[in-house]
Parts: sequence; C-alpha cells; structure tokens
Amino acid sequence: MQLWNKLNKEELELQLRDIGHEYVTISFYTYAKIANPSLFRDHLFVMWSKLDVVGRTYIAHEGINSQIAVPTKVLPEFREQLYSIDFLNGVRLNYAFDEAEAEFPFLKLKIKVRNKILADGLNDETFDVTKKGIHLNAEEFNKLTDDPGTMLIDFRNHYESEVGHFKGAILPDVDTFRDSLPHIEETILKGNENKNIVMYCTGGIRCEKASAYFKYKGFKNVHQLEGGIIKYAHDAKKQGLENKFIGKNFVFDERRGERISDDIISVCHQCGEPADTHTNCLNNACHLLFIQCDGCKDSFENCCSKECQEIHNLPEEKQKELRKGLDNSNQIFKKGRSKHLKFKSNKEKHISLDTNKKNK
Ligand SMILES: [Zn+2]
Ligand SMILES: [Zn+2]
Repeated sequence: MQLWNKLNKEELELQLRDIGHEYVTISFYTYAKIANPSLFRDHLFVMWSKLDVVGRTYIAHEGINSQIAVPTKVLPEFREQLYSIDFLNGVRLNYAFDEAEAEFPFLKLKIKVRNKILADGLNDETFDVTKKGIHLNAEEFNKLTDDPGTMLIDFRNHYESEVGHFKGAILPDVDTFRDSLPHIEETILKGNENKNIVMYCTGGIRCEKASAYFKYKGFKNVHQLEGGIIKYAHDAKKQGLENKFIGKNFVFDERRGERISDDIISVCHQCGEPADTHTNCLNNACHLLFIQCDGCKDSFENCCSKECQEIHNLPEEKQKELRKGLDNSNQIFKKGRSKHLKFKSNKEKHISLDTNKKNK
C-alpha cells in the first residue's frame, strides 16, 4: 500500500466528502522511548489509513504528539488499536466534540518523523524525558496548592499568563519555553529542592518535559497538572470543585483565549483600561501580538501603533515596497513587546509574583 498521500487539496476535500464520515477531533501526546521512529511511523500510517483517520502526527525518538480526526463510528476500534501499543496503553485522549471549526479540520493523514515532538530546543540527551513528575488531577491540584508551602509555577510564556493564571502562581516573565527552564531553576527553584513544586501549562505537554528536567536536576517533589488548564477547567466545573484559575486561558487558535473566570486581570497595552483580548497587529510587516481593548481596536484599526496604522492604510504595492529587505522576525518572536506599547513592560523583568491585587 501507498505510505504517503499525494492528492491535492481539492481532491482531498472531494474524497472526504465522498466518504461522508462524521469526525471527532482527538489530540494526545506522550514521551516514550521509540527505538525506530520510521518503522513506527509506517505502522501507524497503515493502521490509521484503514480507519480513514486524518490529521497530523509527529514521531521522534522521544515520543509522539498527535492531532487527528477520527471517524466517530470507528472510535472504539481506533482506541483499542492504539491501546494495544505498549507505551500508548491508557494514554489520555483529549476529545473536541463541540468546537466550531472548519468542516474538515484536516484533509489528509500526515505522520512525520522529527527530531523532537515539541520544538523546544532543549538538549534532552542529558536527561530522561520519561521520568516525569507526579500527575495531579483537578482535585489533587486544589488540595496541594492550598498548602502555603507549595510552590506553584506557571510554565507558559508572559503573553499567556498575562491574561489568565492560577491564583498564587509564580509567573515567570519569559518569552520561550526553552529560556524558561534554566531561568526558573536559577531564580525561583534554587534552594527549594525539598519543597513541593507544582507546575502547569496549557495542555500539559510542556510540563511533561519540564518536570523530567527538574527531577533530573535534583528536585524531589515535582508535580504537574495533568492535561493542563484545559482539562482542569473542564473537570473542576464538572466535579463542582473550586475553580482556582482566574481570567482567560490563552490558546493558539483563532479564539486566542478561552474564558475561564469572569475576571479581567490584564490591561489594554495601548490605553491601560482593563482588557484581555489579544490582537495581531494588522500591519503585515509587524504582526505583533498584544492586548487591545475595543476602543483602541477602533481607533487604531487593529494596529499596534499609529505608525503601523499608517502603513496598513497604504496601497498594498506601497506596503510591499516598504517591507523589502526588512527583517521583521524580531517582532514576531518578541510577542507582545514593543516600544510602542505603553502599558506593557519592554524589558524582561522575568519574575512577577501574583499578588492578586486587581481582583480584590
Ligand atoms: Zn485601549
Ligand atoms: Zn504593529
């Protein structure tokens, strides 16, 4: 059988329409030691092709990271086959039944072998990513974080924790996950080797690795919120537990954030009024990600500054001319930092302790 899809977009859409399945979107990941990723890749490809699974999956020596759509009617079979693979037996599957997405979120099955399942730039030859921290469910998380001796740390980037985070969490002001680990070790954790450490991130995958890293570094009581904020919010609600998360959970899709509590804990980066909606500056040479209130959205026309607004309003030809030879990668990387934004810190101050003032 063919091990790669070679059809174009239109052909693929027609094919999916023809097949006429109802799909459920599933994501899962796990760190494990995979001796021969290519072989495993082909095995999965054959298995999933037969079930008409579509979506994208990365496989590396360190594990698997998968976002796929599975035809609803083969779901039991899919699960059974997946769990028959040793290191995937019992892996947590995240289902998205109700997301208003495109008709076909994925057009074909893509399984790629990569060096890493998460592009984080960590050198993990030095430590064992499968020796991770203790997983906490929502209830256990609430209990452990009630203890004032517990150190609760947000492992996301500054623009994520800015709009929402757990009460009492330490919020490292970092731009990338790669930078955050040594930084957190130096400035927060050093000397606390015997304390209870609880870490969390959006969906749990960053903590899988971070917890293994800190255990390797000699920290004894490393815990992580299983399934991240996404699962916590869902479970806390379902089980009637106290919700310790305030504000919005930043997500990397069109919505930019999922509201979890009614608190608005951040301010518009342009006027300082309470706001927690991220905007991508409309100037194609900028695309800065920043927080903008509705008022500023109107007056700046979705741009981060008057300069960008002026450029955005030029004819496209003129804009192209201006962009020629300009390197804008800096601003895309520096999400949410720019000298134009009066109400956002420009230099990395790195640590801010949540004193929860705005909510009192
Ligand atoms: Zn504003
Ligand atoms: Zn801009």
